[in-house]
Amino acid sequence: MSEPLTGLGVSPGRVAGPVARMAAPPALPPPPGFAVGAGAVALAVTALEAVAADLRRRAALMAGEAAEVLEAQAMMAADPMLREEAERLAAGNPGAGVGDGPGVGGVVCGRGGPGDGPEPVSGAAVWAAHALDRAFARHRAALAELGGYFAERAADLDDLRNRAVAAALGRPMPGIPAPGRPFVLVAEDLSPADTVTLGPDVLAVVTERGGPTSHTAILARARALPAVVACAGATALADGELVAVDGTAGRVTPGLSEEEAETLRRGHDAYRERLRSGGGRGRTADGHAVPLLLNIGSAADVRDEDWTSAEGVGLFRTELLFLDRHAAPAPREQHAAYAEVFARCPKVVVRTLDAGTDKPLPFLGLDAEPNPALGIRGLRVDRVRPAVLDEQLAAIASAAERARAEVWVMAPMVATWQEAAAFARRARAAGLRRVGAMVEVPAAALVADRLLEHLDFLSVGTNDLGQYAFAADRQHPRLADLLDPRQPALLRLVAECARAGLAAGKPVGVCGEAAGDPAVAPLLVGLGVSSLSMSAACVPAVREALAGLTRERCRRAAERAMDPR
Ligand code: PEP
Ligand code: MG
Repeated sequence: MSEPLTGLGVSPGRVAGPVARMAAPPALPPPPGFAVGAGAVALAVTALEAVAADLRRRAALMAGEAAEVLEAQAMMAADPMLREEAERLAAGNPGAGVGDGPGVGGVVCGRGGPGDGPEPVSGAAVWAAHALDRAFARHRAALAELGGYFAERAADLDDLRNRAVAAALGRPMPGIPAPGRPFVLVAEDLSPADTVTLGPDVLAVVTERGGPTSHTAILARARALPAVVACAGATALADGELVAVDGTAGRVTPGLSEEEAETLRRGHDAYRERLRSGGGRGRTADGHAVPLLLNIGSAADVRDEDWTSAEGVGLFRTELLFLDRHAAPAPREQHAAYAEVFARCPKVVVRTLDAGTDKPLPFLGLDAEPNPALGIRGLRVDRVRPAVLDEQLAAIASAAERARAEVWVMAPMVATWQEAAAFARRARAAGLRRVGAMVEVPAAALVADRLLEHLDFLSVGTNDLGQYAFAADRQHPRLADLLDPRQPALLRLVAECARAGLAAGKPVGVCGEAAGDPAVAPLLVGLGVSSLSMSAACVPAVREALAGLTRERCRRAAERAMDPR
């Protein structure tokens, strides 16, 4: 084993496997300026075929919507019109600066993948890459001109273009790699859309960027994948190198032998088995019940076995259903997505769309802002697109009507009691009976008592509450200490909310990532919060932590944590 790389462990578990890096989009070397003829044509066609085959292979590993998306992309890569255009361009001179050249076998320099120096690329390959680049650009423009549905698909071509250009240049294709065996995914960072298409062959995730509350971290926990973020030097690891990933300690150890990797793999399988077989409700050692709930992004995040210890869904992040959408989801589609979740869960707290900053929703068409985390996001989108909230509330209410599940609804990013009151009015007018708000803004925590005059419950979002209380970007790896949920100032804000809940006799839970941290959950219980909502993978460890402490010990620990000396 070699010296470990360190980062932040954000999703527990230890596993080992070969590295596969997520390649950056390829840089297009300057055009060769000489004709290369048939060699370039063949390379362009082969690149398109490789892209389509790769997407089909990935689709076969996925299920549901992710598989459909990949199949559709594969069909676009195999489009005969695109192929003809690429062939025609490759047979002529696709790049700028026509001239005579050395023909097939001529060599120019291109940029390599992450960590590589310049590698020689043949003139034919560069020519083919330019032909593909131009063919995709023309195809994109043609689709955009058609408008409507076709214009929406135009953006999908950019990813295909990057893949085809990379294939022609002999570079790794951008996007989630598919080495054909289970692997440790290493990336600069993952977009929410990337994480949605993570297949079952991903053993663990390691990123150079990201923080404890980034969406990479959240989605890794949701899929029970060990994950380390803010791991400097990770993208310099070599593809195929065996590494151990410790998502609890935040360590990535390269240079593993096959034997060591096998031992860790067996341990990880046993750990997953424990996760699967564990059960029992959340309660302290003296029997005080603390419902453990789940954070989910869609019905796919809920497995039947989760109900052995979780009692419902405490946070359904509805915006994750629509992240890549350029057109507003129709009411019927929304209804179906919510109904699918309500059919699988006994109780669901639905959060209305939380758009903006780290969760862009293209279909809202929001203007770019200089300071998006402080701008139009969450409930504030209602100020510029009021129809969206009413449509969503109607879809939630109609799906809830026919469901057995108990459905509660809450708004993200509420800052004042006027906002809370207005939201409650509209949600109740839509037919929803239990209405609440997330407390993610310090201003809201400070007036929690007034919020509860209008609402039935509160749910504290410690991820954003920490970000806004400490003026520290939740994705910033260098500010992780400020974003530590044990920060006394953050705990005091949570305490304010819990006090208001106890005084009003209304539930106040926590659904930020702090709730799923076994070292923090007992403190939250000690502060008086009534439930904890987290990724399914975190439930067993939190259950164990609570079972080992009385409520009084939790209280004393919380007091010390709020005022450490
Ligand atoms: C939070 O801010 O704590 C939260 C749960 O919401 P999200 O992470 O989706 O912003
Ligand atoms: Mg939030």
